[in-house]
Amino acid sequence: MTADNDNPSANGSSDAQIRLREVQGELERKRAEWQASERVLTRALLRIVEVLGPVDQELGRELKVLRDNLLSNATVSHFSGLINRLSERSVTILRRRLKITRPVTEPVEQLMDLLAQSPRLVSGINLLRRRLHAGESADTIVAAIADLFVDAEQAARSELPADPQSLFLNLLDQLSLPPEFEARRVTLRMALSAREVDDPAQDLSELLREAHTYLGRDSRLLSAFLKRSAQYMSVIDTQLKVALDQSRLAASDTDALTRNISVGLEELDASFQGDTVEMQVQLKVEENLRTVRDAVGKFLNVQDQQRQDYETRIAELTTQITGFERESARLRESLAAEHARAHRDPLTDSPNRLAYEERGELEIMRARRARTPLCLAVLDLDRFKLVNDRFGHRVGDRLLRSVSAIAQQRVRGTDLFARYGGEEFVGLFPETTLEAAQNLCEDLRARIEAAAFQFRGEFVPMTVSIGLAALRPDDNLDTLFERADAALYRAKEIGRNCLVVDD
Ligand code: GH3
Ligand code: MG
Ligand code: MG
Repeated sequence: MTADNDNPSANGSSDAQIRLREVQGELERKRAEWQASERVLTRALLRIVEVLGPVDQELGRELKVLRDNLLSNATVSHFSGLINRLSERSVTILRRRLKITRPVTEPVEQLMDLLAQSPRLVSGINLLRRRLHAGESADTIVAAIADLFVDAEQAARSELPADPQSLFLNLLDQLSLPPEFEARRVTLRMALSAREVDDPAQDLSELLREAHTYLGRDSRLLSAFLKRSAQYMSVIDTQLKVALDQSRLAASDTDALTRNISVGLEELDASFQGDTVEMQVQLKVEENLRTVRDAVGKFLNVQDQQRQDYETRIAELTTQITGFERESARLRESLAAEHARAHRDPLTDSPNRLAYEERGELEIMRARRARTPLCLAVLDLDRFKLVNDRFGHRVGDRLLRSVSAIAQQRVRGTDLFARYGGEEFVGLFPETTLEAAQNLCEDLRARIEAAAFQFRGEFVPMTVSIGLAALRPDDNLDTLFERADAALYRAKEIGRNCLVVDD
């Protein structure tokens, strides 16, 4: 070994051999490394080919060629053209991916156009548009859309007749009820304002029906009119119930929309969580936005239709109420006219027996309560039959009118002088003592006697006999009248043209 070490050429040759062996070893390692890398790369490429193949048809074809080449252990020269084509294809795909982001803004724009129909949302939409064009992130845009939906829902609620109570309050204020019903109107108004009424339509209708029953209490027009007003009332009833149901419907529609929107937004949100460049995500985003947009569009249509229906119903209702009000006013007028007619004597234009009976009952109650005196006089024209027979009925009528006019002039406004029937009159004197009434009746008798007139040159006698009585504690109108009438009978007996006071 020493000789070998001493020989430089032998040493140089062995050095070269050593170096060669080292290089060969190195090459061997590199080849093994390369082959291992190649296997890994081939496996990875094959995996990529598998995954990317279905994404794009043309790309898929190129990748299939790559795969076949990989599997057949083709040399690099086989790959060069293929790799060029693949990179071209990738650029196209990348460009398309960049374009895919446009359809995401498109449905958002469409959605905003739809929402812009609601005037309350205009400012919110303009803000969202600016943010969208400024290229804000998907997350913030989704949040802004969510806010917009909250606004949309609030706007929808406020535009709908969500408060039928105010409708009833308006109706209640518009109605002209008799004064006796004012207290009930105030009570119902307070209950409506405090939202303590379950069925306002029912309460309102009841009040109206009662008012009408009250108005027509003593009228012969009652049955015909009530039948008609009952029809009005049932129409109003239905109308108000429909209006009420509609607003409930609108509220439930709004709830449904809110649910739809929140589900849509959750999905939208979930989509944005993933890789935004992924094609599937883009498609999902588009789909979600379209769903939400359709839901909002449908809701706005339904809402618009409902508003139109509601307006029509309100117009109908107003017409019904107006008709009812006119009818009510007409009834009140005709009732008043009828009341006047029923209580007046057409010949003398003085109150009649019905007026006397109604006032008589009232004055007796008042006198009892206030402990004031009340007197009743019964007057009868003397020998009136003779006047009729001698001068004719027209002269007799003139006499009746004269007596009535003289008496109406003489008595107080609080007194009542009425034609009881035929040639008999009654005088009702409240808050008048028997003594005062006696003076009054005597004066009346004298005035009538003094007013006697001539007819065709002949003197027409005009005198009255009077019976007077004061109210006693146990009297009613009939017994008071009987005592005054008995006194009158005595006046006739003692010679007529005189006054007899009941004692
Ligand atoms: P006395 O003094 O007893 O009361 O006699 P009299 O003639 O007044 O009594 P009687 O009851 O016999 O007659 C009443 C008459 O009054 C009979 C009727 O023809 C007449 N009479 C009743 N109502 C009217 C009327 O509206 N117009 C006219 N012209 N006469 C009437
Ligand atoms: Mg008589
Ligand atoms: Mg008489």
